[in-house]
Amino acid sequence: MERTLAIVKPDAVEKGFIGEIIKRYETNGLGIVGMKMLRLSREEAEGFYYVHRERPFFKSLVDFMSSGPVVVLALEGDGAIKKNRDLMGATDPAKAEPGTIRKLFAANIERNAVHGSDSKDSAAFEIAYFFNRLEMMR
Ligand code: GDP
Repeated sequence: MERTLAIVKPDAVEKGFIGEIIKRYETNGLGIVGMKMLRLSREEAEGFYYVHRERPFFKSLVDFMSSGPVVVLALEGDGAIKKNRDLMGATDPAKAEPGTIRKLFAANIERNAVHGSDSKDSAAFEIAYFFNRLEMMR
């Protein structure tokens, strides 16, 4: 069993896609072990995306991620990190495979509906960023 961190980003929350997105996790072998809705401050969004701080789109990404509520989930399943990346599709929805979350629900490369950890190290950092022990169901 492996764990990964997923975020339903502000664009998808605003458009009413929370349920559609979470359904895809649950029907594809990703169980929910932690979940909360919150609104990130600029500082919290910067801390989460610290690895991207030198990228040209960093400020815009932080503005977007702190622009409205998000739903954060700790997901568990066999090969959860890759499974979630496959369900999400490519960063740019125009390049995402048919049927993926980003192809179905994302507007563009920045407002792309969901986040998913890209490695074991990022999953560990990201889950600990949002959830303490009491907020994890196992
Ligand atoms: P991910 O792992 O597929 O989410 O992609 P990255 O880790 O490369 O980028 C993190 C997030 O930054 C993406 O999910 C997008 O929201 C945003 N992003 C990535 N590339 C670009 C870009 O070229 N322009 C803009 N404006 N945002 C981007």
